[in-house]
Amino acid sequence: MPELAELPGVGSARIISRSEHSISRRDISPNALKVLSRLSNAGFHGFLVGGGVRDLLLGEKPKDFDVATNATPEEVKHLFRNSRIIGRRFRIVHVRFGREIIEVTTFRGAPETHLTISKKSARRSLRYVNSAQNEDGLMVRDNVYGRIDEDAMRRDFTINALYYTTEGFKLLDFCNALSDLRKCQIRMIGDPQERYREDPVRMLRALRFSAKLSFEISDETAAPVESLSDLLSGISPARLFDELIKLFSTGYSQSAYKLLRKSSLKEALLAPTFAALERCQPEDAKLLELAFSNTDSRIAREKSVTPSFLFAALLWPPLRLAMRQTGCKSLDSSPRFLNLANTAIAEQSKYTSIPKRIGYACREIWELQGRLTTRGTQTVDATLNHPRFRAAYDFLLLREAAGEELIDSGKWWTAYQFGDSTERKKLIEALPKVRRRRRGKRRFAGSKS
Ligand code: ATP
Ligand code: MG
Repeated sequence: MPELAELPGVGSARIISRSEHSISRRDISPNALKVLSRLSNAGFHGFLVGGGVRDLLLGEKPKDFDVATNATPEEVKHLFRNSRIIGRRFRIVHVRFGREIIEVTTFRGAPETHLTISKKSARRSLRYVNSAQNEDGLMVRDNVYGRIDEDAMRRDFTINALYYTTEGFKLLDFCNALSDLRKCQIRMIGDPQERYREDPVRMLRALRFSAKLSFEISDETAAPVESLSDLLSGISPARLFDELIKLFSTGYSQSAYKLLRKSSLKEALLAPTFAALERCQPEDAKLLELAFSNTDSRIAREKSVTPSFLFAALLWPPLRLAMRQTGCKSLDSSPRFLNLANTAIAEQSKYTSIPKRIGYACREIWELQGRLTTRGTQTVDATLNHPRFRAAYDFLLLREAAGEELIDSGKWWTAYQFGDSTERKKLIEALPKVRRRRRGKRRFAGSKS
């Protein structure tokens, strides 16, 4: 078993012994512990790092456990049959245990040289280098391996750079992280401006951790964001989609929304929504707030939330504004409405990608609104059996709670869903009779057939 003191770089850490910190092995995923012990048995050093350690120290349940090691990705892969190497910009190993994935990263070193690569030639040139930045300072490759102290400096915020080892159950602090944790402060490691240029997503991460932990972002860390937020336009829409989902579907969407509204990052992430919020009806803005409180409470009750529902709410203000501006009154399958719905989705896709199936489901939630409020006697059961009924019904309840007058449709559907056949029959009979226009008759008016 390797000695901690022999690991290069450990000397610069403040080492906190078992009796001085609150992390208990019982709170750590058994699979993460398995990874640590197998690394150690093979002569490597493995540490828990990142959000797992931070959340344990805060008495929270970690979302996942990340491991950092001095073994290379190939060495890690060799140790775990259930693993694979992923990523290009960062090569990491995913070790899978059923539904749980333990992410194992090799200690990163300081980039060897500041190799600058033009955006145009990036693809070709990157095959031959381990680390590089483009002209904007963005790290396009970061695969230089290094010592543990260098690895700590490559992480984003101090509170995310604490290392925990099962060897003596010690905690390693390279950057006064514990003091920031006690002060409830998010502080960038190194020069914030430079670190945001290397990876602009760190601006969103700062906001996310601030929302999640109710921590303040330190002044120096917050200061460059306003002038650098445009850099997010250089980040792939797919990565921004992931960040948006993390921001709004992990249980603290209300505070994330509050922070985003005050931040210049809103234009980089959700420009159409925030532009529409300035001009839309109060109930359409209210719906968004209710969707966030609803999402947070669902997650607190360990219920799932779907990205399509989130997008249906996020894009509601721009959709409603466009409907008002074009005089489109109903949410249904008419080409006119579908065109507006598709445009709302396409406009947002310029910022974050929206996977096709999510966009499709989001549109269905909107489309069903018409059927839910009209309640044609012939279509009620088809609507109830629609795969998107539940989401559309929840959305309808939000609209009513936001102040839209929808002739008690929500109440009606609640009763219908949970009623027995007699109650359902009564509910249908009580519906206003909508006279269906008999097209055939009209066309052939006057003819005897
Ligand atoms: P959570 O999982 O609760 O969202 P986390 O801190 O674990 O938060 P991850 O995205 O899982 O965040 O990343 C794990 C760790 O990797 C982080 O704690 C941080 O140390 C490092 N890290 C992640 N993304 C970046 C980044 N863009 N720049 C620098 N370090 C990063
Ligand atoms: Mg994590």
